[in-house]
Amino acid sequence: MAELTNEALYARGLEVIPGGVNSPVRAFRSVGGTPYFVARGDGAHVWDVEGRRFIDYVQSYGASILGHAHPAVLAAVADAASRGTTFGAPTEGEVRLAEELCARVPGMEQVRLVSSGTEAVMSAVRLARGATGRSKIVKFAGMYHGHSDALLAAGGSGVADQGLSGSDGVTAGAVADTVVVPWNVVPELDESVAVLCVEPVAANMGLVPAAEGFLDELRAECDRVGALLLFDEVITGFRLGPGGATARFGVRPDLWTFGKVIGGGLPVGAFGASAEIMSHLAPLGGVYQAGTLSGNPLATAAGLTVLEHLTPAAFAQLDATAARLAIGLQDAFDQAGVAAVVPRVGPLIGLFFGAEAPVDYDGAKRSVDLGCYPTFFHSMIDDGIALAPGPYEVLFPSLAHRDDDIDATLAAARRAAVAVAATLDGKDRP
Ligand SMILES: *Cc1c(COP(=O)(O)O)cnc(C)c1O
Repeated sequence: MAELTNEALYARGLEVIPGGVNSPVRAFRSVGGTPYFVARGDGAHVWDVEGRRFIDYVQSYGASILGHAHPAVLAAVADAASRGTTFGAPTEGEVRLAEELCARVPGMEQVRLVSSGTEAVMSAVRLARGATGRSKIVKFAGMYHGHSDALLAAGGSGVADQGLSGSDGVTAGAVADTVVVPWNVVPELDESVAVLCVEPVAANMGLVPAAEGFLDELRAECDRVGALLLFDEVITGFRLGPGGATARFGVRPDLWTFGKVIGGGLPVGAFGASAEIMSHLAPLGGVYQAGTLSGNPLATAAGLTVLEHLTPAAFAQLDATAARLAIGLQDAFDQAGVAAVVPRVGPLIGLFFGAEAPVDYDGAKRSVDLGCYPTFFHSMIDDGIALAPGPYEVLFPSLAHRDDDIDATLAAARRAAVAVAATLDGKDRP
């Protein structure tokens, strides 16, 4: 049998899967080269099919906060699976996960579980429109709220990587009620707006925090016109701290969406609100929403196990890991004479080339256009450090990353920063 290589698998994948991948950013288009195919993961590390080990900062884009193949998660999933994997009838796990989510997020009284972040935001927007009887949705340029038609416009993450402003196949009608506004500027809303969607910490255009007091101003503007405020906490939920961005910043939205962390690496999303708003959902109200695999027993078992492990001590550890990493990365660029900024909000870390930290999507794009990320990425991966293969993603250190992982990462980053500096010699440095 032929040896299993990344090259060979990618070639086979390209024959039967468009672009060889099931989510575009995985194809390495914006950094170049052949994607690595993962054979297995353990804690902070993944191994590719060729046996190379990487210290992994992708961590399924934040879905694996405990690290890969955490023994307690595996045990919970195996135990749940032994009793059946899906029933189409309610289970105890769904009730328990909903209880745990509501207990942690100030103001959220009820949630409904779905199977992805995309589904969560899509459903929350429908609920907002149904509850308010209004049509318009407002989103910030560079934010990613999943790939539903109405929300792709000016999307960050992989949409940004592909250089698409939205997507072919999304009709003018589908986005007729979507208004895109710049991040960190309070939009002037009116009484046609059902919902303002926001990532409380923008983490899909690189990491671009909200300006001081900005979330409060959004809350006030929504209140002024009776629009609902939606915090898309698919990344920030149960990562920024025990109560997500809501608790961290002390600003209460009307609607929440979650995903990633709460599934413990299995497909889960959730959307929630007050009992009053949630009462508009079928079977109580007229807003329809459903799912064959919603509240899946394996996923709820994994999610509950993850939440149990997210103690105050765990968040302190994650914060400390991220702080060491961010400071060390900044130092690596400074030493190499490369202008770059490494913003950090709690455990989330961004990386922008150029002297200024962007405050919006245009700024993030200007940084990416300097073209430094592919060199940095390839130097790191050649040194055994897996960053996201796209410049608009953040780094996701996990609870499994140890001091020696960070040391190795920073040693590699110092070499990678020198490699970036070499590409800039003779050119204007950013
Ligand atoms: C990842 C993400 C989504 C979409 O979640 P999927 O599970 O990929 O569908 C939505 N919103 C935000 C903020 C995200 O980061």
